[in-house]
Amino acid sequence: MTSGVQEGRPVEARISVAEIPGRDFTHYETGLSPLGTDRGEYARVVHDACQRKTALNLGIAYSPDLDRMCSTCVFRTANPGVYLHPDGRCNICHAFEHGFAAAERTGSLAREREECLDPAETRGADLDVVVAFSGGKDSSATLAHVSRERGLRTHAVLVDNGYIPSFVVENCRRMCRRAGAVFVRLSFDLGPVVSRACAEPTATAYPCNHCSKVFKNEIAEYALSKGCRRVVMGRNFWAFLEPRLSGVREIQTRTGAGVRFYSLPFLLRWTHGDLESRLEAIGWDRRHEGIPGMSTNCLVPGILDPRYETATGIRPDAAILAHEVIAGFITRDQALAKLRQTGRAAGE
Ligand SMILES: [Zn+2]
Repeated sequence: MTSGVQEGRPVEARISVAEIPGRDFTHYETGLSPLGTDRGEYARVVHDACQRKTALNLGIAYSPDLDRMCSTCVFRTANPGVYLHPDGRCNICHAFEHGFAAAERTGSLAREREECLDPAETRGADLDVVVAFSGGKDSSATLAHVSRERGLRTHAVLVDNGYIPSFVVENCRRMCRRAGAVFVRLSFDLGPVVSRACAEPTATAYPCNHCSKVFKNEIAEYALSKGCRRVVMGRNFWAFLEPRLSGVREIQTRTGAGVRFYSLPFLLRWTHGDLESRLEAIGWDRRHEGIPGMSTNCLVPGILDPRYETATGIRPDAAILAHEVIAGFITRDQALAKLRQTGRAAGE
């Protein structure tokens, strides 16, 4: 340990506290979760430095409790690693704008989109693509697109964490039949992680982070076992924002072989309006909308998000909504309406 301020500094951190006033960065570079549940000296000092940066940029008085919302997305300065530029927009909005302009210049997102959907890529394999299938709105519309509209040979893999209602599993099976896709259900028990998170809501224990890691690893192993190294997700925003904007992330399997996960709706530049006709076509069950919280397939956010908000004063779902607004999938007003629907939208 070289200095007190480095205590608890995450391994992912790529910016030091001393650099914060002098350069622009994203929350990814701080290594802190925008959920605001990281504790310890490093998290506190980084957050404080971001608050000072916002105050200076906006020409307002510094306060450790500064809580301003970005003027174009729903990130707040209460979210760790987030600060506002002089124009009132957050660092993530700015980073996206720069990343997107660069991607347009080089054509990198268009290339990723082509390799994601190109049937020639899997000519020798038994299938063209694996869909990471949760049964929620986004991955169901994605399944409809690749299987029904593109005619790709598709396996849709649901990783059941024990919190997926049975009508969702049944609907997944029906949707696959309708789409002409093979339905595969894998399972694992998220129970111990959920219990731990109920007892102590910290970022590292946030079950959705753990679940999405297990989910991706399981699906990567499955895809590789079928000779397919391409997985499509219903994710509506980037996989990486820096060093360059990208809609694909490679996951290493146990053997070391890489499987690529594509955020297809993001690469197709879909908006929320692009989902509806596809959900209709594939027979998505409206009962999914009755699941509490932001998820349309899993019970965990409805159970845990209120506890996280009470513990930290920050909505865990607000960061995802902010990413979706920045990527152009939903509007800021739609995100604010969603936040109001399920709780408070403080800092507006
Ligand atoms: Zn913003």
